[in-house]
Amino acid sequence: MTTASDAAAPPFREAVVDLDAVRENIRALAAAVAPARTMAVVKANAYGHGAVPVARAALSAGAEWLGVADIAEALALREAGIGAPLLAWLHDPGADFGPAIARDIDLGVSSREQLEAISDAAASVGRTARVHLKLDTGLSRSGVAPGHWPDVVARAAELEAAERILVRGLFSHLANTSPEEDAAQLAAFELGVVQAEAAGLRPEVRHLASTAGALRLPAARFDLVRIGIGAYGIPPFGDGTTAADLGLRPVMTLRGRVAAVRRIEPGTGVSYGHTWRADRPTNLALVPLGYADGIPRQASGRGEVWIAGARRPVVGRIAMDQFVVDVGDDPIETGDEVVLFGDPLTGAPSADDWGDAADSIGYEIVTRIGARVPRRYLGGE
Ligand SMILES: *Cc1c(COP(=O)(O)O)cnc(C)c1O
Repeated sequence: MTTASDAAAPPFREAVVDLDAVRENIRALAAAVAPARTMAVVKANAYGHGAVPVARAALSAGAEWLGVADIAEALALREAGIGAPLLAWLHDPGADFGPAIARDIDLGVSSREQLEAISDAAASVGRTARVHLKLDTGLSRSGVAPGHWPDVVARAAELEAAERILVRGLFSHLANTSPEEDAAQLAAFELGVVQAEAAGLRPEVRHLASTAGALRLPAARFDLVRIGIGAYGIPPFGDGTTAADLGLRPVMTLRGRVAAVRRIEPGTGVSYGHTWRADRPTNLALVPLGYADGIPRQASGRGEVWIAGARRPVVGRIAMDQFVVDVGDDPIETGDEVVLFGDPLTGAPSADDWGDAADSIGYEIVTRIGARVPRRYLGGE
């Protein structure tokens, strides 16, 4: 954990990413789901944490697979020299699958069209493409519709016999709606697996669960679980369960330093539109992060930060580059450390607290931290 005592002068703004926490979280989750194996999901720049360092840390702690949304994200990991099994599942309709096949990137398949395009690309590259067929079991996003599944698995078996493709996996994704609906998705997935096997497919891995299912629905673990948010030490449930309750440690601490302090009189309005006015003499601290840095404007007047040993309320509108905190009569000075979120065991707000303040979730808070915020890695890359 980074505190003011770590550095004489806290930085203007930074996101501290503790790779030891990534390793601990992956170890804890991998042990909890064993003998199922673990895929670390590092899409969207590892939820804002930095894809390459997080991927390396996760692999060193026992994750055997990596998962991303886009092929471009997968290629960037390969460019960085990461050779682990790697799955990409969200494709541009006109995607050129050749480079991914050439770099041993496994491809999720959500339609007959994608299956044919991947097979054609494999033929031109002169390789066998490794695919994971995705069944839509009820999330209604991507995945093959159940009515088309028998056709897709039959065609996949033909293409596998022709060595155009290897069906390495079968997968789906849960809506995490209710135990009943998760159970219905689980049953739909099991039926899809039976149909695929009847068509002659023998996939190495069947996978359904992300962090939430991996933790709360053991029957959904199958051969592999796809762990995203848990690796970052943020609970997936949105029901008040904390990271510590799950044996996880938040990875990102977002901090900065107080850019200015001013004394104001009662009645003084603060920030655009004067949505807040002081009802007493008080001190305001200026925090140099704003919505350009991913601090949600929606959390204006609702978020809290940690300064000098206490949580302090955001007052007035959060602006592009900055916002204002009411620090009362406490002796806060320009240059003091401000922690926007980190490990709540330290007293600081959590990413989920900011999610609540913005009618959102911790996932969105960390993922949207902007490019202007430098990432600093603890725990060695
Ligand atoms: C993002 C994603 C995951 C990871 O989900 P978490 O809730 O972050 O663990 C798993 N599978 C798929 C298909 C995803 O898109």
